[in-house]
Amino acid sequence: MNTEGIKGSEGFKGSKGSKGSKGSKGSKGSKGSEHSLHGKHGCTALLPDSYPDTGMKIYGCGKPVRLFVAGLHGDEWKDTTGLLKSVETPKTGTLALIPLVNCGKYVSTLNSGYYSGIGKKILKAIEELNPEIYIELHSYSGENLEKLAGRNRLDLIGVPAYSILKAGVLLGSVSPWVRKKYFPKESLCLSFEIQKGSAESRKFAAQMLEILKEIRSRDEFIEYMKKEFPAQAKKAMEDYERFYGEI
Ligand SMILES: [Zn+2]
Repeated sequence: MNTEGIKGSEGFKGSKGSKGSKGSKGSKGSKGSEHSLHGKHGCTALLPDSYPDTGMKIYGCGKPVRLFVAGLHGDEWKDTTGLLKSVETPKTGTLALIPLVNCGKYVSTLNSGYYSGIGKKILKAIEELNPEIYIELHSYSGENLEKLAGRNRLDLIGVPAYSILKAGVLLGSVSPWVRKKYFPKESLCLSFEIQKGSAESRKFAAQMLEILKEIRSRDEFIEYMKKEFPAQAKKAMEDYERFYGEI
């Protein structure tokens, strides 16, 4: 979930397309946060053996390369990590999964320090794999729906509102800190928000993941959305254009 505002959103301007600079950024991060898997933070249900170091699993090979991540912060892993664990080999291309990025302190991905700190595992994977398709799975509490999907999110928080898809699953953009800096325009980068504790929400998200793991390009996903969720597709594309420039 990302309900907090972007601090110093000026920073996003002029940072796009700077693929070459990515190596220098994101190197400073909080040491020690990687060990938060073990006890203390409520993740004890997950055996460390199941999630060694990066916790990344790679299925298939070749293009397109997809990277799906879940459990990005706080207790979100409870509703999202299991979903990624059940995704398997795609029919074409590569699918890389990080089912649990971090389950320690909650730091919003809209915070400039997220990806260089507790989310640095994600940056490392992006740099190594250079994915064309990047999906984040988040979860939210019902009372935050308005903050996430309300019309004034762009004014209040500085990023476009999420679209409500189905069964409480929301679709939006990933944080500008990673979108603009690490991906060219033609990449498909999506953030899904699953309603905490909702079995229906989880079930629908699992169906979306099955579709997304076979998607081969951003355009293919846009066509799928236009057919299945025309209203949401229209809104998402308008928001995207307003925020990032033309698609
Ligand atoms: Zn989140």
